[in-house]
Amino acid sequence: MRIVLLGAPGAGKGTIAKLLSDFDGSVQISTGDILRNAVKAKTKLGLEAQGYMERGELVPDRLIMDIMEARLQEPDCAKGYLLDGFPRTIPQAEELKKLLTKLNMKLDAVINIDVPKEVILDRLTTRRTCSNPDCQEIYNIKSKPPSPDGKCLKCGSPAVQRADETVEAITKRLETYNEKTAPLIDFYAKEGLLKTIASLSSDEIVSQIKEAVK
Ligand code: AMP
Repeated sequence: MRIVLLGAPGAGKGTIAKLLSDFDGSVQISTGDILRNAVKAKTKLGLEAQGYMERGELVPDRLIMDIMEARLQEPDCAKGYLLDGFPRTIPQAEELKKLLTKLNMKLDAVINIDVPKEVILDRLTTRRTCSNPDCQEIYNIKSKPPSPDGKCLKCGSPAVQRADETVEAITKRLETYNEKTAPLIDFYAKEGLLKTIASLSSDEIVSQIKEAVK
């Protein structure tokens, strides 16, 4: 399947993408993961992106479109893809539309995962992420804790709080979402691609997505 996962930070896009990827082999493409790996590896992209990310601001559209233009042409995308955290602005959505036409690809659906703000805040402050770039398993200290000494249950690397998951950065990321990303809901409704799912259960969300793209 080829879908865009829309939703505020903490709505569960990453978790849903992993479940869908296990289901049909579509690849999860998370611009946030790509950028965090670049920051860790101190590449040119990483050095350019780091400040924006730590402040909870969006990285410039130009950098993101360069990443995505290359990524969507990788051979694994032939199996389908789940765009997680992209597009994030109207210009990115417009550029994506042009890019997909150029690559002769069509989206099946844009899924808007609609989660109340209180739930988002609670989830983000209790979230921990495996620090191993090849694993990045997501934990929650309340509902899905890592080992008692804070290690990833899959690979044993430390499960850590992301630098942009402090209360200040989260507040800023939510403001950025409302201002820059929420307008995409209307954009994709007009394109006839939008499906909004208001559920807190990953299994329920996944089954509704499978139904929507059948
Ligand atoms: P995420 O893990 O998707 O919440 O992304 C973490 C951070 O990476 C965001 O707060 C932004 O600074 C940056 N980022 C990720 N995806 C994008 C995007 N499509 N456009 C601009 N910035 C992005």
